Amino acid sequence: MIAYEDLKKVNSRFFDEYSDVFKRVLHSGWYILGQEVTQFELDFAHYCKVKHCVGVASGLDALVLALKQFSFSAGDEVIMPSNSYIASVLSVLHAGLKPVLVEPDIHSYNIDPTLIEAAITTKTKAILVVHLYGKMCDMNAIMAVAAKYNLRVIEDCAQSHGAKYRGEMAGTIGDFGAYSFYPTKNLGALGDGGALITNSTPAAQQIKVLRNYGSSVKYVNDEVGYNSRLDEVQAAFLGVKLKYLDAINAHKRMLASIYLSELKERFILPVVSNGYEDVYHIFAIRHHDRDRLRGYLLDNGVKTEVHYPISPHQQKAVKGVFTGGIFPIAEEIQNTVLSLPISFAHTQDEILQVIDILNKF
Ligand SMILES: *Cc1c(COP(=O)(O)O)cnc(C)c1O
Repeated sequence: MIAYEDLKKVNSRFFDEYSDVFKRVLHSGWYILGQEVTQFELDFAHYCKVKHCVGVASGLDALVLALKQFSFSAGDEVIMPSNSYIASVLSVLHAGLKPVLVEPDIHSYNIDPTLIEAAITTKTKAILVVHLYGKMCDMNAIMAVAAKYNLRVIEDCAQSHGAKYRGEMAGTIGDFGAYSFYPTKNLGALGDGGALITNSTPAAQQIKVLRNYGSSVKYVNDEVGYNSRLDEVQAAFLGVKLKYLDAINAHKRMLASIYLSELKERFILPVVSNGYEDVYHIFAIRHHDRDRLRGYLLDNGVKTEVHYPISPHQQKAVKGVFTGGIFPIAEEIQNTVLSLPISFAHTQDEILQVIDILNKF
């Protein structure tokens, strides 16, 4: 059986280092917002070549806090892609704002910048872009629309740690980059975690206040804040993993290049474009008979996933939010997309086996 992902195997290479840093935190006697979080924030900001990083409890919280710190009015609109993970939509709702969905480009799976302008109203305040599957959005086009209409830009980077667009790191082009360190992500912790990156010093300061009960001085509360802090233990683990992020991404890119060169044409493959450095958080192919293909792969010992089987606008949780909207491209993707194994734990040999089975379908 070839697993879709094997987190024990991914992390086993770091067990010794994890044990060392765990002991360090254990013996420090300081478990919330201490040296480990501060050090990881410095290290991750340095890695992203950005001024500030603020650790928070999850990727969802990173998005919510970024939206909250702008102090938009209730009901203001945020434009976002119709085919993201539900967290992106939920963040807008939790921030008391209105998500407005724009269809993705059918080739890149990222928001189609040419459709954004038509969705802008007098209430539009921001664009929440999602760099899906490890490929960044067409940021020049998006930033041009944002500049024209004076909109803020938040980048959901939960699937794009280390990805680049024209040499620039995910999360550094808009106002904020929101990261998740959920265990399966390219930079995954051993539990929940997240972070915001920004070049704005006041914005970073404000996020630090919001994540910690709206307080910058102990027991003095100036804002209706949250408890959303990156854990000391997770920060310590992440500090270890960050040293290997480039190696993890390089491994996934190498596996992706094998798929790209060996898979037969009947599968719709991810596009590779000049100026984009993709990190293949997910290697998504498309096929008109996806469910049968998935069953066939499972029968032949290959586990796959679907990201995502139900588009956000069809989820019961958001019933009534998107009435009247039609999103055929999101639905086409949801019905045909299939994620193939592409883990740091997979070998070239395993990927060649998957390819062999696929090409016989
Ligand atoms: C994983 C993910 C999130 C949420 O991250 P959590 O840490 O689980 O809250 C948000 N957006 C996208 C696109 C994701 O893939």
